[in-house]
Amino acid sequence: MELPCPICGKPMHELPGPKELKCYFCGEVGMSNVACEGKHFICESCRLASAEEAIERIGLAAIETDPVKIADKMMKHPAVPTYGVEHHLIAAVSMFVAVKNMMGERAQAKDIKRLTVFTKKIPYGSCGFLGVCGAAAGLGAAFSALLGANYMKDKERTLAMEVASRANSAIASEGGPRCCVASVYIALSEGSKMAREVLGLDLKSELPLGRCEFADRAEDCRRERCRFFKGA
Ligand SMILES: [Zn+2]
Ligand SMILES: [Zn+2]
Repeated sequence: MELPCPICGKPMHELPGPKELKCYFCGEVGMSNVACEGKHFICESCRLASAEEAIERIGLAAIETDPVKIADKMMKHPAVPTYGVEHHLIAAVSMFVAVKNMMGERAQAKDIKRLTVFTKKIPYGSCGFLGVCGAAAGLGAAFSALLGANYMKDKERTLAMEVASRANSAIASEGGPRCCVASVYIALSEGSKMAREVLGLDLKSELPLGRCEFADRAEDCRRERCRFFKGA
């Protein structure tokens, strides 16, 4: 029986022989006997990774400077649910890594761990229960780490709060019910604007307007009320 590719959903075919393929998530090269037409491959470590491990692995390996592309990869990992606290970390890590890549630096494992530690404190459903979307708070965590903010700092603290506020406001104006995927996209768009303003980086986040790939598995999708919905 042919199983669908977990990345593109197209059928997986047996290859004439084992072939060296690059892991879609972390870039590690491994051998595979099966592949879809897009030659997508998931290495053993990424296949076995929990959502949190996968997000960290993808973040560490990413070379992209568009945070939306990094976040999309994370959200496509089979262990990452369509809705959930994982998106708080996705917003934080994808933004942080994209900025670091744009600066010609590499994100370090300890930086990413720090983002995990802070965003894990944000509860599920914080948008509706606290009035603060976890993706917006995750964006604040990314800028806090990038700027070296803490609660005693002056300008850095203001900027971390400012970017989280802008994202929260933009996400709120989309209406509900919540969509963690859309919230991540909007947070990253606000984050890219902030990176241009305060870091002088020409960071581009290409939003998937009218071409969201997650609608089919998002049971609470706002569909026509969402600017990312690609149509039925
Ligand atoms: Zn595929
Ligand atoms: Zn991998």
